[in-house]
Amino acid sequence: MARKLIIASRNQGKITEVRRNLEGLGIEWVTWRDLESWPDLAEDGDSYYENALSKAEKLTLMKGWAALADDSGLEVDALGGAPGVLSARYSGVKGDDQSNIRRLLDEMRGVPPEKRGARFVCVIVLCFPGGDHLKVEGRCEGTIVYQPRGAGGFGYDPVFQPLGYRLTFAQLPPQEKDALSHRGRALRDLRKLLMESPNLLERLEV
Ligand code: IMP
Repeated sequence: MARKLIIASRNQGKITEVRRNLEGLGIEWVTWRDLESWPDLAEDGDSYYENALSKAEKLTLMKGWAALADDSGLEVDALGGAPGVLSARYSGVKGDDQSNIRRLLDEMRGVPPEKRGARFVCVIVLCFPGGDHLKVEGRCEGTIVYQPRGAGGFGYDPVFQPLGYRLTFAQLPPQEKDALSHRGRALRDLRKLLMESPNLLERLEV
């Protein structure tokens, strides 16, 4: 018997962070690279939760194993909460981090420091083969800097500076990002739920 969990993402940055934050639970991770076919995991819902649930459910139904999906985004105050659920394709091309950052900095040109508030939001859904699911959520407040800084992380990390720090997420060591980040917070809650009821971990067994 193995505790198998499929990660419903092709984003290597997310995959790395999810695995790192759920280490030590005896989970055998299954990614898109391990499967012969991979469904179209469209993110056309209006909320992170809707998108995460639809991605996890699709994979659970397809394989009969538990699946975990993360839907996340960056909400910038000066842009009325954009890019939000559209963060991955803000510049029009899904997953092109450089052009997403370029568009964000263009839109933020001339916005003064005190109006550059933003937050990352992450909703994670773990769907079990029976069809029921767990949902956890995490947030991290910060500001959008004027120029990208740092080479770590992924996505908008080089332009997001968490509140109380002088470094961007891309400049912080991975463990420090995990300690503060929206995803780190959501995954710590998920770990707690899984540890508190051993029968949940058993439900990953195939
Ligand atoms: P989605 O959840 O697949 O729609 O993609 C979320 C998008 O939000 C990513 O492609 C990134 O652009 C952005 N994002 C989410 N979490 C992070 C993070 O931890 N750092 C930087 N960007 C992030």
